Amino acid sequence: MQFIDLKTQQKRIRQDIEKRILNVLDHGRYIMGPEIKELEQTLAEYVGVKHCVTCSSGTDALLMPLMAWNIGPGDAVFVPTFTFIATAEMVQLLGATPVFVDIDNDTFNMDPVKLEEKIFEVIRDGKLKPQAVIPVDLFGLPANYPEIQKIADAHDILVLEDGAQGFGGKIGDQKVCSFGDAATTSFFPAKPLGGYGDGGAVFTNDDDLAEKLESIRVHGKGSDKYDNIRVGINGRMDSMQAAIVLSKLTIFDDEIVRREKWAQAYSDQLAPTFQLQKIPATYASAWAQYSLITKGKKHRDDMMNKLKNHGIPTMIYYPIPLHLQTTFNHLNNGVGDYPVSEDTADCIFSIPMHPYLDDETINQIVSGLLD
Ligand SMILES: *Cc1c(COP(=O)(O)O)cnc(C)c1O
Repeated sequence: MQFIDLKTQQKRIRQDIEKRILNVLDHGRYIMGPEIKELEQTLAEYVGVKHCVTCSSGTDALLMPLMAWNIGPGDAVFVPTFTFIATAEMVQLLGATPVFVDIDNDTFNMDPVKLEEKIFEVIRDGKLKPQAVIPVDLFGLPANYPEIQKIADAHDILVLEDGAQGFGGKIGDQKVCSFGDAATTSFFPAKPLGGYGDGGAVFTNDDDLAEKLESIRVHGKGSDKYDNIRVGINGRMDSMQAAIVLSKLTIFDDEIVRREKWAQAYSDQLAPTFQLQKIPATYASAWAQYSLITKGKKHRDDMMNKLKNHGIPTMIYYPIPLHLQTTFNHLNNGVGDYPVSEDTADCIFSIPMHPYLDDETINQIVSGLLD
């Protein structure tokens, strides 16, 4: 059994992918070929925003808007401590200070009440200027943007949605990657909309920001290719990857429906026994991961071993909250500072989730857990 089954998906669209790859080989525009514009237009329309700027990864997608906003030394950027490293890493790379925020016990997403507490703390300390917040759509579930946006507006800080896991999710009719001042996603193969390599995108309704992102993506180019007007990066997505993501998009909505179906099947059977990620009313998850909360490290080890003995793969997302990771030691955070994230890291694990599960596999996993 596979944790994420990309093979069945490939069988379904193999011919289309081959056709699109051959097309790139024929036209030969490997860098910024026609697939890039096509993908950007398709994604912008899908999400319902004005601009999509593709780039080399979900990590660079976080970096580029932070660069465009001149985030740097002396700036505080608020990030959840229970997430993938990239969210806080890009803040630190720019010399700004990641200020961690604990998560909500039910949704595992940034707790808006704790966000505002942290903003007040930073203001009181007087050392850093609150500039931005990066909520993460953890495991596919959109963060609480209605509340976070209110707080951000009250304190005049920017909102950057990290939708690397959330693409395909929504709140009401509003799709992931349309929240905040800008939003990002990743096409890493294991993400809900994954390619066959690295890739990412930034979304925004801000014309000025979109123009800066396009410049930063190509070494800070100005209108003249050899007169660079700012420091940028080599952040382009390959035409070949764009071709693959375009192909995957043709079945993406169907895949989201399937993920929802399997998540429901899991939840119906597991809810009496395990705490699960709570999906608030009107929210829809893209189900990048399906996660369970156990009663503690030992219970988790037992459960994971039991499944392993049945040949069922599991993963821990995430075993160490960011504030306890070595690269952030200089921020002087310690054990006990973010109790919900720490408890969650000790108790959580994820079971197989992808569109190509079936009733039999679900039953096998569920009986492995409940036996
Ligand atoms: C995967 C991921 C990223 C980074 O995406 P890459 O394409 O791997 O660089 C950023 N944030 C979150 C929350 C992620 O899960």
